[in-house]
Amino acid sequence: MTITAKYCAECDRLYHFDKYHCMVCFSKNLEEKELNGRGEVYSFTKIHAAPKRFATLAPYNIILVDLEEGLRLTARYEGDELAIGKQVIFSEKVDGAYVFR
Ligand SMILES: [Zn+2]
Repeated sequence: MTITAKYCAECDRLYHFDKYHCMVCFSKNLEEKELNGRGEVYSFTKIHAAPKRFATLAPYNIILVDLEEGLRLTARYEGDELAIGKQVIFSEKVDGAYVFR
């Protein structure tokens, strides 16, 4: 499974997947760009009281990931001990949530 972002070829800028026009040149011709899925943990927290749709997963770790391409994402983390600066990699997208390990 791959992780993608929106890309404006005119400005050479990346945006989160939910953007529909470039914030700089307002071009609506954003392309889908595949990312390498690698990033570094910027921050993290453990969720004990989860929203209903994720309740069966609790407790689980939520991380802010700085992707190598420069975007910052919120994701769920499945793996060993977490630390700020830890290298993580995209694993899958489940119910609209990014999962890293
Ligand atoms: Zn642009």
